[in-house]
Amino acid sequence: MKKFLFVILLTIIFCGTALAWKTPRWGYFPLNVYIQDHPKKPIVEKAFETWQTASGEIVTFRMKDSKLASSLHVKFDDKNPRVQKKDFSNAVGLAVTQSPLGFYSKADLTIFLLSPQTGRTLNDKELYEISLHEIGHALGLPHSSSRGDIMYPDLHGQTYISGNDLNMLKKIYLPD
Ligand SMILES: [Zn+2]
Repeated sequence: MKKFLFVILLTIIFCGTALAWKTPRWGYFPLNVYIQDHPKKPIVEKAFETWQTASGEIVTFRMKDSKLASSLHVKFDDKNPRVQKKDFSNAVGLAVTQSPLGFYSKADLTIFLLSPQTGRTLNDKELYEISLHEIGHALGLPHSSSRGDIMYPDLHGQTYISGNDLNMLKKIYLPD
């Protein structure tokens, strides 16, 4: 059974002609990030650091203690997704973004702590993989069909960002 990582893109388009970019993106960096206080919080922080470093600081983040002072929020969900999230019965992570006028204004990430199939606790390596993947969505990356990429829509034991993932990011933030 595959565990799919889902993304919901709530795109609010007010004016089509204002969309200068093919893919929604953030219009500024660093992004202010709020991560829910939790024992697993350092894993998510490390995933943000990895995106920042691997991208050569094309994307940068600033951790905030206040939800109000941030536009990218991360929370943990320790409920059984199969029971609680019938529409996303196989999901281990969620990314919900809002992009009026083609620019992201807000992103909410949810990292599930339990396997949707068995209810077992996901291990730290899996939570790191989920975090990297969902942050990728929050930055505007779509799914990849290659298992070598963190944006492949399945938990597959990957704990790094591939060259292809980075090329996708560059297409969004460093267009020709
Ligand atoms: Zn996904």
